[in-house]
Amino acid sequence: MNSTTEKRIALISVHGDPAIEIGKEEAGGQNVYVRNVGEALAQLGWQVDMFTRKVSLEQDSIVKHSDNCRTIRLKAGPLEFVPRDEIFEFLPEFVDNFLKFQVKNGIKYELVHTNYWLSSWVGMQLNKIQHSKQVHTYHSLGAVKYNTIENIPQIASVRLAVEKDVLEKAERIVATSPQEQEHMRSLVSTKGNIDIIPCGTDIQRFGSIAREAARAELGIDKEAKVVLYVGRFDPRKGIETLVRAVNESELRDSKNLQLIIGGGSTPGNSDGIERARIEQIVNELGMSDFTTFAGRLSQDILPTYYAAADVCVVPSHYEPFGLVAIEAMASSTPVVASDVGGLQFTVVNEETGLLAAPQDVDAFASAIDRILLAPEWRDELGKAGRKRVETKFSWDGVAHQLSELYSELLQPQPVASTAKELVESTAELVQSAAKELVE
Ligand code: UDP
Repeated sequence: MNSTTEKRIALISVHGDPAIEIGKEEAGGQNVYVRNVGEALAQLGWQVDMFTRKVSLEQDSIVKHSDNCRTIRLKAGPLEFVPRDEIFEFLPEFVDNFLKFQVKNGIKYELVHTNYWLSSWVGMQLNKIQHSKQVHTYHSLGAVKYNTIENIPQIASVRLAVEKDVLEKAERIVATSPQEQEHMRSLVSTKGNIDIIPCGTDIQRFGSIAREAARAELGIDKEAKVVLYVGRFDPRKGIETLVRAVNESELRDSKNLQLIIGGGSTPGNSDGIERARIEQIVNELGMSDFTTFAGRLSQDILPTYYAAADVCVVPSHYEPFGLVAIEAMASSTPVVASDVGGLQFTVVNEETGLLAAPQDVDAFASAIDRILLAPEWRDELGKAGRKRVETKFSWDGVAHQLSELYSELLQPQPVASTAKELVESTAELVQSAAKELVE
């Protein structure tokens, strides 16, 4: 293996385009993860190609992010947005175009890192066809998700089977939290190799502005008590719980309270429908005077919003990791989050924020109030959060861990295992020869 192939990696994210605007329907944490991991790996000397599905004719087929990092959009199915639950049937075309891209460019990817179950299927095909090794990050587990929703999609049984298959077959699975690893083991399979490497965040960008300056920039009063939500509009994100909790706040009628809900949406699409539903609840509860729907917040303005807030709330019904929590913590803003999944790993209860039972309006209301009513404690929680992110969740640190993992997997087979294989195959030969003799 030459040095170029050693440092080449394909990140495959069929439905999560790393080069598009984040914060709208189906574009969230996975897109941010792939893009940031890709760019940080390129900094470490990897040739990074990030493969995704092309969703319109106008989109460039190749977007160059830096000298060794690019997004490559492959045709797979119609050139339009397709919800993720309907993409599976187009994956053979994705594999086909991936192979054609390799031939055209004289490249073979010895190692692919797949993201979400759809891409995991692509990775398993590449392993069958050309022995590419596979690292996989789930981002979401069907076995967990289907416990939290009422309408199970038709694709569910295929997804569950693929998720089990990849856990057992991939060279390595990357769990982003111990909680996710535990779910894989208890709900998917006891077989397979799992490493824990968390998601990360940009610790230079988040935390680069102080509260006063951020408020001045956004025109928010110094005395205001600001509660912030950032994320997609999806019923499972629990925005309704947050709105109802703020409605119960002791500060509800103090004139100082402000609720900011940040996240993009398109009218008529599923996120637009959820936003309309939330707006209706806000109106019904008479909260519109102090509630702002900020729309999609670009990654450039986000640090200002996090810094301006007294508390950031992540009320998800379930969250495999939850980037928003670490972005807020990196901005020295305490987090009130649901006591579920990766949030139990990122948010340390009573130290960097507070955990509350998911969908429990009273628990969220009292957690939010405890922080809003104690500014000194708020600052202590904020500082501890910043420290936790610096030590555990920087993209650089995450990329270093992934880089080590990839390098280990790309090493030629160690002699010991070759010798073991030799002994085993010799034993087999001896056995069958003995059998023949007896017969
Ligand atoms: N995000 C954004 N602008 C918005 C809303 C969200 O850039 O208006 C980003 C947010 O900063 C975070 C990601 O989208 O990086 C959401 O990731 P998370 O893991 O919290 O949730 P997911 O969307 O993956 O469920």
